Amino acid sequence: MGITIPISANNFHYQSRNKADYMNSFTPEAIRQHLSKLQDPELGFSYSDKRVLRELTIDESQLNIRLVYPYLTEVKMQQRQETILKHIQVIWPDVRCKIEFKQHTNRHKVQNSVKPKFGVKNIIAVASGKGGVGKSTVALNLALGLQALGARVAILDADIYGPSLPRMLGQVGIKAEADGKNFVPVEGLGLQSMSMGYLVDEQTPMIWRGPMVSSALQQLLNDTAWQSCDYMILDLPPGTGDIQLTMAQKIPLSGAVVVTTPQDIALADVYKAYKMFEKLKIPVLGVIENMSYHTCSECGHEEHIFGSGGGDKLVKDFGLDLLAQIPLSKSLREKEDLGEPVVTPSALTEDGQRFVTCAEKVAIKLACEEMELQAPIQKIKVSA
Ligand code: ADP
Repeated sequence: MGITIPISANNFHYQSRNKADYMNSFTPEAIRQHLSKLQDPELGFSYSDKRVLRELTIDESQLNIRLVYPYLTEVKMQQRQETILKHIQVIWPDVRCKIEFKQHTNRHKVQNSVKPKFGVKNIIAVASGKGGVGKSTVALNLALGLQALGARVAILDADIYGPSLPRMLGQVGIKAEADGKNFVPVEGLGLQSMSMGYLVDEQTPMIWRGPMVSSALQQLLNDTAWQSCDYMILDLPPGTGDIQLTMAQKIPLSGAVVVTTPQDIALADVYKAYKMFEKLKIPVLGVIENMSYHTCSECGHEEHIFGSGGGDKLVKDFGLDLLAQIPLSKSLREKEDLGEPVVTPSALTEDGQRFVTCAEKVAIKLACEEMELQAPIQKIKVSA
């Protein structure tokens, strides 16, 4: 994708400078220097950084800039192009400029002991220290948020004892079909999904022990014919016991997100979850604080029912990123019970927007983890 701006001579900067000086300063290096003063607000480094700038050339007085983004950010591309153009026009108002943006999701590193899953670029675990904090709600909406950014997304409900995904996707009563020896993923709200809820009745109690649970989950992952996708969200069972540890060891994970409510007691559980992933060398991309506050529908007053400051404490004490603070929301709960999404690309609700912003932070965090480990794939091409 690229845009070209036409030459316009009636600009203050142009008129106030000598034309020869102006043309002399129009070199790729001068432009690169100038770009180094403009930061990408999401990535936190400048557009001249080798991690994104891949080409800067002047070809018959046309400036060509090519940037490659390591995550999908369709919604903000045009905004970025306009910002860069304006920045360049401050010095070179008459420039003819083509800015090309490419975006893709990289496959990230997984634990040394396991192989990446074929066709699935990144599996991200969503964990919580304890049940009832809204982990499954967050997992689903994170998946929908990533989808809204332009990614292909799958979700695997690993909550074998309490599978809630079929209900949240509006797929209650649907049974997973088998195609030869594999299950076919069930499609809901545009996501590919798999859950124990598609294999047994909601009323059937699961009385499996730990090893059976983790082997059932691996079967759900490995014996499902997933279509290729950028992200798979893995909704882990709550807690940090043996079951969760075995799953986190055996499933190739690119990163993990921890969900909590703001009380102190929940924060202690976050620490345990953090330690579990740290031990397995799985990057914790951040924490999502759910049920952070409630806004009174009558007067708009915000009440912190479960206390406040928990998220800030996590940032301070453990150096974890607080990815989002999701309020208690009646419409979120109601829509979820009906299997209706709050994240829809066409009409984003306030709740939906929060999850899209949060998904973008997760995608950036994951992209930046890898960038820190890797040298840039290509050298910048700067030529006149
Ligand atoms: P967990 O997976 O942690 O057990 P769930 O995601 O199943 O929790 O959520 C438990 C209940 O809380 C569900 O009925 C869900 O709709 C509701 N819920 C979760 N998050 C919120 C929220 N931010 N506002 C209102 N209700 C919520």
